[in-house]
Amino acid sequence: MVIGGGLAGLSSAVALAEAGLRVRLLEKRPHLGGRAASYVLPGGEHIDNCQHVTLGCCTNLADFYRRAGAANQIRFFDRLTFAAPDGRRGVIAAVSLPPPLHMAPSFAFFPLLGLADKRGIALTLLAIARTGGRPADLATSVAGENVTMLAWLRKHGQTERAIRRFWEVILVSALDEELDRIDARYGIDVFWKAFLSTRGGYRVGIPSVPLGELYEGCRKALATQGGEVELRAGVRGFCVADGSVNGVQREDGSMETADYYLAAVPQDVLPELLPAEIVDREPVFSNLRNLKASPITGVHLWFDRAVMSEPFLTLLDSTTQWVFNKTQLYGSGAEGGGQYLQLVISASYSLATRSRQEIIAMCLEELRGVLPAIREATLVKGTVVKEMSATFSPAPGSDRWRPAQKSPLSRLFLAGDWTSTGWPSTMEGAVRSGYLAAEAILSEAGTPRKFLQPDLRAEGLARLWARES
Ligand SMILES: Cc1cc2nc3c(=O)[nH]c(=O)nc-3n(C[C@H](O)[C@H](O)[C@H](O)COP(=O)(O)OP(=O)(O)OC[C@H]3O[C@@H](n4cnc5c(N)ncnc54)[C@H](O)[C@@H]3O)c2cc1C
Repeated sequence: MVIGGGLAGLSSAVALAEAGLRVRLLEKRPHLGGRAASYVLPGGEHIDNCQHVTLGCCTNLADFYRRAGAANQIRFFDRLTFAAPDGRRGVIAAVSLPPPLHMAPSFAFFPLLGLADKRGIALTLLAIARTGGRPADLATSVAGENVTMLAWLRKHGQTERAIRRFWEVILVSALDEELDRIDARYGIDVFWKAFLSTRGGYRVGIPSVPLGELYEGCRKALATQGGEVELRAGVRGFCVADGSVNGVQREDGSMETADYYLAAVPQDVLPELLPAEIVDREPVFSNLRNLKASPITGVHLWFDRAVMSEPFLTLLDSTTQWVFNKTQLYGSGAEGGGQYLQLVISASYSLATRSRQEIIAMCLEELRGVLPAIREATLVKGTVVKEMSATFSPAPGSDRWRPAQKSPLSRLFLAGDWTSTGWPSTMEGAVRSGYLAAEAILSEAGTPRKFLQPDLRAEGLARLWARES
């Protein structure tokens, strides 16, 4: 029995069904996808709770989409366009040089950074690449704790503009956290895996359908083994006796039993589903309180006309970080010539207390410089979705609070982006946790099987340096 129909629950359920198990998945909400879901607004518009993107280096998420029959609904882009507040653009893309040099030419000609910025960035990227993504100067004097990304960048002599227009732009959106709260290990991993070790790791994958449509194949996969997905099926708690889970109580009061239980709920929900004395006794559960959440705000804007020609843009020096041209990405000829844009603001702490109207007004003001056509356009409709617990914060030392997928209670397994995967709180991390949990269950059942996909293999010089380090 899998409790929770986010990516962790879905990926483990599909893997277990493929291994021949009959899986029942209970999801509290009326739709699948958890934090990566879509729904219909009262006006009939399909919206994602927030735009989600994947990267070429997310090998397990790609594998899950293949298993769910959704891989052809992800479109990959290999040009990243950055826009300054005055509307100037800069493009980063790969050429046919061996990694990590494949992006060097577009970086050298990137117009939105100066020479001193680029020199510092290049030397620091080289330092990451030469050590195969494992520089030795991360640890602090506190056991198990690394320096923050900001401290590491300062140590490596980055200019303020390089920090603001390069490191921050990429890392705040990849890790949903400010640089002074990110464990440098996570930040460096992003650059090694996405930008330095392989040619295709940085490619941005964007769904061409609302997120919910990506999961339709999962129901079928479970049904082939006699399993099922049940929506609006919240679980109130696990029944625990003698260190073993022997049932769940549903929110409607009914009891259900299974051979194995997989809790694929968010980290702040799991302790509420367990008896308080067990949470207090087992550090695996009580330590989850140490994982802090960080917010993401999505802003959805519908205009009466086309205002943007690119599929997506990354904004520099502004609160709005990404703009997605949803009309173009969905391939839908805009109804009546209008256009739907979705804006993303990660680590949006500063917006927590601001009203929706204020946020929309601020975003429109920022967009006017970058997309001048907005000055003539009429905003037909706007909506703001604030996700205050979007991801867990990858703070220095946070790894030590992330539990393995096999729990200390017999027959209970754990999955979720917050479990121990080595990856930050992302769809890739969630799927990795789902596959690891499925492997742990099958191993316990005496029928071991592997689902976890390896990282992309380092290429070119990066491969050589990774081997040497
Ligand atoms: C706004 C936003 C933007 C993001 N952008 C990106 C992005 O661009 N790229 C990326 O890789 N990641 C992104 N993420 C992160 C990504 O969405 C998550 O890391 C991932 O979806 C987590 O999956 P999960 O299965 O671990 O958890 P969840 O998706 O939270 O799934 C848990 C499920 O458990 C269910 N549940 C809870 N309690 C119960 C109960 N009692 N009984 C039954 N079911 C229950 C919930 O309803 C939910 O469906 C974003 C997240 C947010 C919120």
